[in-house]
Amino acid sequence: MKDIGHHDGEGLTLMSDRQKGLLDAISVVSSKAEVRFCARHIWANFKNKFSGTAYKDLFWAAPRSTTKHWHDSYMAEIKELNEDAYNYLSDIPPVHWCRHAFGSNSRSNMLLNNLCETFNAVIREARDKPIITCLDWIRRYVMRRNAEKWEGIQKYEGRFMPFVEKVLAWVYEASLNCIVCPSRLDEWEVETAFDRHVVDLKELTCTCFRWELTGIPCPHAYACIVKKRWRPEDFVHECYSKAKYLATYSPHIKPMPGMKQWKKTDLPRPLPPLLRKMPGRPKSHKRKKEAGEDAEERFVKRGKSRITAQTVNNQATTRESAIIHLVLFSPRNQGGIPPRTHGLLLTETRGLQEF
Ligand SMILES: [Zn+2]
Repeated sequence: MKDIGHHDGEGLTLMSDRQKGLLDAISVVSSKAEVRFCARHIWANFKNKFSGTAYKDLFWAAPRSTTKHWHDSYMAEIKELNEDAYNYLSDIPPVHWCRHAFGSNSRSNMLLNNLCETFNAVIREARDKPIITCLDWIRRYVMRRNAEKWEGIQKYEGRFMPFVEKVLAWVYEASLNCIVCPSRLDEWEVETAFDRHVVDLKELTCTCFRWELTGIPCPHAYACIVKKRWRPEDFVHECYSKAKYLATYSPHIKPMPGMKQWKKTDLPRPLPPLLRKMPGRPKSHKRKKEAGEDAEERFVKRGKSRITAQTVNNQATTRESAIIHLVLFSPRNQGGIPPRTHGLLLTETRGLQEF
């Protein structure tokens, strides 16, 4: 924590899969940090006890709600379905997994720790390397990524990052359904089909809590800002600005010479542990997945990917002498002669043939 300039974690938001040891450590070294639990991890455990579409819809609606009364209404519906399910979720403090109870300091409404999944996927190539090689691989990856991000933003002329424009376009559409009514100065009452909210343009707040949570005006606030003939961009938090993005990537990772040029010391040379051949089949280096996670992935909608002769040929040549099964085209390998799909046939070692 001292290395990143934090002594007690104040101002930080940490998210985990509720690993017990990790939570104990966080409470010691960063007692003031906001701690969130990955909702997908909670769902993975929850659905093992209470499965079904009705549970799933209500489970996800509860943490996504940014107001307590909507959250409570979804929890009440879960209670009607099964009191044990309600008690299971009620034992997890909302401050750790529900948007309405999150702090607004991080300007983030994230429920899932996809950042960790991305990081784990990236470093898969380096994970089985010796520690120094592994760390050097990560250092070089971060150095290259940092340089690409910094160079990529130099010619960008917008005040805010493109993400903000996309969000504001959606917010604008939603704001068309809002009926605004001024109270006094910057205070407004906003009516929608489902609820009524109070917006304060001076305090930058709305009772739907989305504005404070994300730092981007919610549809209710947007409608008031437009009514005042002000610019919605002026009410977006500076953390989304190009200036902040540049500041994030400005400190660069310095290049390093090869290991042979490193300064030598009199300290004993670290040696790798003795290699012991363990009985049984070698373990996969992939991350251990939670129960049911694979089954969940099968239902994830993916964008239509276009598989060309070039891409498949590339895969074939990089894995010579391996048989590429038609997993790209069918969910399960059925055995036998590969089916003729999309006019392409994969053959061992020779890559792709069109026919
Ligand atoms: Zn609002």
